[in-house]
Amino acid sequence: MSSKPIVVQAVVDKPLSQGFDYLWDIEKLGCLPEVGQVVQLPFGRGSEVGLVIKVNTHSEYSIDKLKSVEKVAPLPPLDDALLRLMNFTSQYYVHTLGETIMPSIPKMWRKSEDWEKIPKKIESAEKKKAKKIPSEEVEGYITVDQLNPEQLDALKTLVDEPKKTKNLFRSILMQGQTGSGKTAVFLNWLATILKDEGAQVLLLVPEINLTPQLERRVRAYFPNEALAVLHSGVSEKQRGIAWHEAFTGKARIVLGTRLAALASIPNLRAIVVDEEHDPSYKQQEGTRYSARDLAIWRAHDQKIPILLSSATPSLETWMAAKAGRYEYIRLDQRAQGALMPKVHLINSRDPQNQFSPGDENSPQTRSLITKTLANAITKNLESCKQSLILINRRGYAPVLSCSACTWLSECTQCSTHMVMHKAGALGKKSVLSCHHCGLVKPIPSFCPDCGNADLKTLGQGTQRLEDAIEEMWPKARVLRVDTDSSRKSKGAEALFQEIHEGKVDIVVGTQMIAKGHDYQNIGLVAVLDADSRLYSPDFRAAERLFAQLVQVAGRAGRSGKNGQEGGDIYIETQYPEAAVYQYLLRHDVDGFLSHTAREREEAHLPPYSYQGLIHAEGKTLDKAIQFLSSLKGRLKNKGLLGKELRIYDPVPKAVMRVAGAERAQIVIESESRKLLQEVLEIIDQDLRNESQGRISKTSRIRWLIERDPIAI
Ligand SMILES: [Zn+2]
Ligand SMILES: [Zn+2]
Repeated sequence: MSSKPIVVQAVVDKPLSQGFDYLWDIEKLGCLPEVGQVVQLPFGRGSEVGLVIKVNTHSEYSIDKLKSVEKVAPLPPLDDALLRLMNFTSQYYVHTLGETIMPSIPKMWRKSEDWEKIPKKIESAEKKKAKKIPSEEVEGYITVDQLNPEQLDALKTLVDEPKKTKNLFRSILMQGQTGSGKTAVFLNWLATILKDEGAQVLLLVPEINLTPQLERRVRAYFPNEALAVLHSGVSEKQRGIAWHEAFTGKARIVLGTRLAALASIPNLRAIVVDEEHDPSYKQQEGTRYSARDLAIWRAHDQKIPILLSSATPSLETWMAAKAGRYEYIRLDQRAQGALMPKVHLINSRDPQNQFSPGDENSPQTRSLITKTLANAITKNLESCKQSLILINRRGYAPVLSCSACTWLSECTQCSTHMVMHKAGALGKKSVLSCHHCGLVKPIPSFCPDCGNADLKTLGQGTQRLEDAIEEMWPKARVLRVDTDSSRKSKGAEALFQEIHEGKVDIVVGTQMIAKGHDYQNIGLVAVLDADSRLYSPDFRAAERLFAQLVQVAGRAGRSGKNGQEGGDIYIETQYPEAAVYQYLLRHDVDGFLSHTAREREEAHLPPYSYQGLIHAEGKTLDKAIQFLSSLKGRLKNKGLLGKELRIYDPVPKAVMRVAGAERAQIVIESESRKLLQEVLEIIDQDLRNESQGRISKTSRIRWLIERDPIAI
């Protein structure tokens, strides 16, 4: 045995900033240690799976006190490029390396007791391969010969890059309205990249619901290439295997949601971020990373091209393209010559638009649907086209109230109301459900405060709207699509299929219907509660609403092969004069973004500044606020506050209490990215000094630092 011991430093998924030293016994483990190896380690009283980040011959600690690595995963070490990405992510988002890396590895590989069984699982998965569908049968399969001149130009710009240098980094925004054929362009582009043997590409999509149809299209384009699909909706085993296929280079195309941005793809040659503006790219727990931003960093680091695609780019990306920092490709025609949908703003305050008592066909109770919209739906039904009615609230009614006293169905654990769900949605009977903490309760027969039996619902959700529509159009076939209905039945895909097959006349649902689906026969789209999303304290509310409405409008009249009509979109609003609606009326995406940019500049808000957020939660709001105030005081004493760095006062969060914890936050803002980073690191150090993990030892407040928050 050699005299020099081998010491490795490893990280685990804990909020502990340093790595830990362990001894490595070559004979026992059967291999040499390498940075990037996944290993099982003794930790505390049990074992943990961790990652080797250093290999040494000495330790700062006494060698004979060190414990030994127990087991090595049947995996090659994670590659250097991935470790660089993880180091950056950890530093930028002020989270420990262990907390950043370990959750990005699928659970299957973090269960060391199952490691022996993995090779068999992989073998059996290989035998079952998806059967090929003939490309021509897949909707949206468009070969190079079928591209229109504008798409061809876009493709040429993407492909015609002199490849003399080793650095192929390019960041490109492809902006084109829904229906302009962006997907066909980037899939044809990826095809040119995949001609290189061994090359891998990464295709990011914002939502799980969008992957099945894109997956079909990708398979149609690349029937002979191995595809790995990575998102949280597939089983742990499938995800573990797909991750392994990406990591070993077997899968040449990696398609996935934000978590795929952190997958190891050793021969990565190009990245596409579809719907790059979508807030789903931001992770909202643990290391709160932006998958889009990390993908850009990764492309830059690995010297490869990245394409950001959207009909309504985020202000950040759009400004970068305008300023020439990103290349800019525009697709302004709808691909198959379909017209733009006509936008109608219905002023819901105008009595002319409302049903009056005695009106023929009027709903029995006051309906969210105005007379103008009801007439349009009737007309659309008559012309045998489908209607899509969107309301952003699932459930029957947002609140249950007592008609005799002031009782409202408040959640006992959160500062919100419990939503009423009708029988059959979440259980056999009607229930009250909290959408924040998940608490479910039976509907009380009497008011808990005064005993009155007359309880009334207030407002509307998808279920109530479904009832109202069935009542107004008794002959129409109505389908509700929201997370409740898709969970209950065969899943969202099956519901979308019913719409595609024309088995439905009126679809009622939340935003999830509007995303990415190419319906062929939608003549009318209506949005009922757009205003509720406009007047939110979040400064990004209008930008997000605009993107959603444009997407929704894109669903109307995507008549593709069959027709040339543009369809209609109806928006019920009390504020038709608001900028977001006015720009929508003219389909003026650039006008809206310019307008928004001016507003942000005046207010020094992102992208004209950078933000960090410190979250604090504890037993009482007072304690959480106090915790943040005293942090602010300490930063002030250190002389950090000034013109370059603004720290706002601590405030309760929009939903202050969730699941019994009371929550506050503080916003930190600077025009300098570097300064903000330094200050967040100082804050991390400061808070860690008196915390165990991320819980303050004195006040028991749980805290978290978030970089580039997207919801404030
Ligand atoms: Zn009462
Ligand atoms: Zn609750």
